[in-house]
Amino acid sequence: MSHIVSVIVHTPAHSGLVDVLSYASEEVLPPGTLVRVPLGKRELLGVVWDATHLDDVATSKDASEKSTDKTELALRPIASVLEGIAPLNTHWCDLVRFAAHYYQRSVGEVALAALPNQLRELSAEQWTRRLTRKSKAADSHSTVEALPVPVSTPEQAQVLENISSHKGPFLLFGNTGSGKTEVYLRAAQSQLAKDASAQILVMVPEINLTPQLESRFRERFAPQWGDDCVVAMHSNLTPAQRLKNWLAAHKGQARIVLGTRMAVFASMPHLQLIVVDEEHDPSYKQQEGARYSARDLAIYRGQLEKAKVILGSATPSLESWHHSRPATDTTQSGRYMRLHMPSRVGDGALPFVRRVDMNHQPKKTVFSSQLLDAMRERVTRGEQILVLLNRRGYAPVLHCPDCDWKSQCPHCSAFRVFHKLDRTLRCHHCSFTQSVPRACPACGNADIQPLGRGTEQLEEHLGKLLSDVRRTDGEPLRISRIDADSTRLKGELERQLAEVHAGAVDVLVGTQMIAKGHDFRKVSLVAALNPDGALFSSDFRAPERLFSLLMQAAGRAGRDAQMQRISPCEMWVQTFHPQHPLFEALKQHDYPAFAAQQLGERQQAQLPPFSFQALVRAEARNQAAAQAYLNAMREEGAGLAETLQIDIYPAVPMAMQRLANVERAQMLIECQSRKALQQFLSIWHPQVHALRAEHRQIIRWAIDVDPLAI
Ligand code: ADP
Ligand code: ZN
Ligand code: ZN
Repeated sequence: MSHIVSVIVHTPAHSGLVDVLSYASEEVLPPGTLVRVPLGKRELLGVVWDATHLDDVATSKDASEKSTDKTELALRPIASVLEGIAPLNTHWCDLVRFAAHYYQRSVGEVALAALPNQLRELSAEQWTRRLTRKSKAADSHSTVEALPVPVSTPEQAQVLENISSHKGPFLLFGNTGSGKTEVYLRAAQSQLAKDASAQILVMVPEINLTPQLESRFRERFAPQWGDDCVVAMHSNLTPAQRLKNWLAAHKGQARIVLGTRMAVFASMPHLQLIVVDEEHDPSYKQQEGARYSARDLAIYRGQLEKAKVILGSATPSLESWHHSRPATDTTQSGRYMRLHMPSRVGDGALPFVRRVDMNHQPKKTVFSSQLLDAMRERVTRGEQILVLLNRRGYAPVLHCPDCDWKSQCPHCSAFRVFHKLDRTLRCHHCSFTQSVPRACPACGNADIQPLGRGTEQLEEHLGKLLSDVRRTDGEPLRISRIDADSTRLKGELERQLAEVHAGAVDVLVGTQMIAKGHDFRKVSLVAALNPDGALFSSDFRAPERLFSLLMQAAGRAGRDAQMQRISPCEMWVQTFHPQHPLFEALKQHDYPAFAAQQLGERQQAQLPPFSFQALVRAEARNQAAAQAYLNAMREEGAGLAETLQIDIYPAVPMAMQRLANVERAQMLIECQSRKALQQFLSIWHPQVHALRAEHRQIIRWAIDVDPLAI
């Protein structure tokens, strides 16, 4: 007798809301089983799905209404079951189901995107060969020598005690250098001490931070648990490595999975602890397809699997800060438990913050004379300096003073950036690149000029300003630049960072890439040159991002307590608004004050975390068409929105209105209740999906739930 099984698949042709298909199978297949199924002339990877789940009923019904040829297909038998691989467990399926519903995507898309590509790409024969390849038995052998484990500081001990005796989730609020990573290591250790089969998921925001953390975990755990106990999961792995690591986690062999946001979907049957390091980092939010927040999913997954969750940061997201608020006389506490580690390990003081009032500097000053003097003094003593400017290239605009021509990108609402090194004008949005014209394209004036400055110009400028300064060894200064341009080639970032670590570089100029996580021992001065833009941005999250960037940058200085005693470290901020509360809080290293001020403003304006948002974006060849589609959606949802007390704002052009010749518009949906917003989206989304047929000019559209950039 043959059984009917529901299978989720994902193909671009079937993208949309629906991809639960029915097939026939000789055996009963439990949900989570990986199968290959025929679709049209192709064979696809699919996951057997429990489609009786309440939330999926709507989608299955939709499927049968939508097309009849699918019902025909539904009778076809599955092609094969992937041998030698246990079904994905219920928790994993529930996580995928939740993520798909919450972020308004199909379960098939979310599930298949979370599986390694090779599972999809290998044919049945290749898969069999892969399986029979002599698989090394889990290797408990280690080549790593056990290092002494440091004694916990009193703050660490207190935090660890709380983690072991409470349920969480926890927000570990600890300064840079306060020993947060050591807390993660210890928490993982005690989990493994209780249960040798425990698995631990550790997430970091960026790939270039994984090797450092990976080696710290390996050093700690390999001596007891073997060299294979830590596996990485991020987009820089080869497809074969990714499959290997994924399988190690799925089989329960890997004790620790360390990865970027995608790792939140790792199949880990014995998951007991989840760590989200630098939880405030925007890169935890996926920016295409299913726009999930790995941090938020980590919290959900922790609940689902009864695993403890630790979010760690020196500058938590205002959401997590709010969720971990202590109780007051009149209000309840948040859902998270806040744990505080205010001190740096080993007396390393945080840098003294100096604000330079640029209103008192001569016009067009790049480096104030005070800052320049301080830099000279330090480099001659052999100390290192970081100069932060969040704009790459030589100048953001090229300009003709005669006719006012500017280097506008013909395809985007943005200027092309002047790159002097290869003499190009490059659009940082659509990559359109041309060589720099010899004369103004509009009036022929030969004297066209750069306007504003980027890291390339800063590097050149500093070279001139410090040309007379010598290193301690009598050699000329080494000035280096790290940004997306200087690190385009594979391995280049690692090479440049190694140079800084080795002390071969005296002054490092760079974008935010240099501010994150690196443990530069000899840096004693960090300078932020032009941070004012974010103070008055239309994006209400801009100050939050700036504050955390500056705190992170400050954290790069003074990591060597020895050197600190001789030469106390400093952070310099050149600003036209030295009295701004953000810089005031930075000076005091007072995140709580900054957060209180920002949350006050957010509450007044009813912005997140005091409200919940979804953003709908539409793209078309012209702006009117994009807006018309959004406004039609708005009309469609008006009645329901009123019932559920939801505000839908009229469509507006996006800040970057035109990108690669495509016009973009957006529409904001806002509500005081997350639940009501979710309810609204799940009813409204299928309705507006159907509207698209009447709006043929729409190229793409998507819903972003809990958007980070508005
Ligand atoms: P964070 O992750 O908060 O920046 P780390 O865990 O990296 O902090 O700790 C900062 C430095 O202090 C590291 O060099 C680490 O090895 C060291 N450290 C952390 N905890 C201890 C401890 N209990 N005793 C001695 N050194 C410690
Ligand atoms: Zn001109
Ligand atoms: Zn462009």
